[in-house]
Amino acid sequence: MKLKLTFLFALLLTVNNYAQEKCGYAGFMQEKLQDPDFRTQYEAQQAAFEKEYERLLANPEELLQTIIIPVAVHFPQANESNRECLEELARDQIRILNEDFAGTNKDIEDWEDAKKEYPGVKIGTLDVKFVLSTRNHPSGVDPDIVEGGPAVTIGNSVRDTDSRWAGYQNFVIKPIDGGVLGYSPLGGSPNRGASVVMNTFAFGSSNSGCPNYTAQRPYNLGRTVTHELGHFYNLNHTWGNGGCNSDDRVEDTPNISGPSFGCRRPGSINMCGNKSLTTNYMDYVDDRCMFMFTEGQAARMKAYINTIKDQWKTDVLSADSFAVNDVFSVYPNPANDEINISLISNVVKEASFEVYDIIGKTILTGDLSIDNNIKSRKIDTSELTNGVYLLKINSGNLTATKKIVVKH
Ligand SMILES: [Zn+2]
Repeated sequence: MKLKLTFLFALLLTVNNYAQEKCGYAGFMQEKLQDPDFRTQYEAQQAAFEKEYERLLANPEELLQTIIIPVAVHFPQANESNRECLEELARDQIRILNEDFAGTNKDIEDWEDAKKEYPGVKIGTLDVKFVLSTRNHPSGVDPDIVEGGPAVTIGNSVRDTDSRWAGYQNFVIKPIDGGVLGYSPLGGSPNRGASVVMNTFAFGSSNSGCPNYTAQRPYNLGRTVTHELGHFYNLNHTWGNGGCNSDDRVEDTPNISGPSFGCRRPGSINMCGNKSLTTNYMDYVDDRCMFMFTEGQAARMKAYINTIKDQWKTDVLSADSFAVNDVFSVYPNPANDEINISLISNVVKEASFEVYDIIGKTILTGDLSIDNNIKSRKIDTSELTNGVYLLKINSGNLTATKKIVVKH
């Protein structure tokens, strides 16, 4: 009898925990891993990730590469008549992701006070840029999305994993049974058309005015999407699988046993003899109280993103949707005897360059050599007279121009 009661109690605890689950990634993964195809790719990608992670740890000075990520947003159960505000909602969420991953979110300044509670923990940022796709949409998926318009589908059946949308960072926003805010694969595969799936009340920030698609407090700052995307880029919750013996495999996040809810004063929650990092996106606290990734989390995400970066399509982005500085760097500038051009973006596979003087006369032309991740080229400027020149890079639909100065 006693045993039975204990068993029942344990079962209730489990159910109770499940009911509190804000994020459904663990259950989703459990189900997906039953599919042998999925499991094979998952295991191969995890193995590639481990290698890349080791490589990055050994090469911390590696030239940073900006990863530009093409985004598609799907509202399968929404109404086309709300297109304008749903597109705005999608842009709003993408803005939030760009801020949160780059660490340019305004509330990151709260770390100044919080950090004294967490010695050794530093903010981690990623050099990624999320861009809503506007070109070469897959055909036949939604008659209302047009060349030049954003990849936002409305009222069309898009599955959680949808091969028609392979090559994009997909977000599917729809009502989810059981009240979870969202779910994502752990270590997602863009080439399968995998999605982060979000509930209708936890996508974007408040005041969108879209009927049935308005983010609700306390999930109204778009942070659940930041959290789910953390899973997509191979981050676990800060408590791992739960309990003090389960780790999230991130060096600098304190080892804890479970989530925190609501809004917590930094340093006020103790678990497993540590202060829980309740300011972190991979906890369950309210949107307004989470505002940072750690350096260790950023390192893992960077390694995962490097592992999958060739799965993203690059011909679905318009050239004017990213800045010249995202695509290549030129240094030193002003230049003396030589100048280096480095392609620092995944959107450029191959490129040629031209250097013009100010009256438009071509001075130099050439190809940019491709060397693994980093494409760079030294240009001899020793014969050029002092002055201002224009450097133009051409690659497919992309043209980028930058002013360079030669000064001997
Ligand atoms: Zn989660």
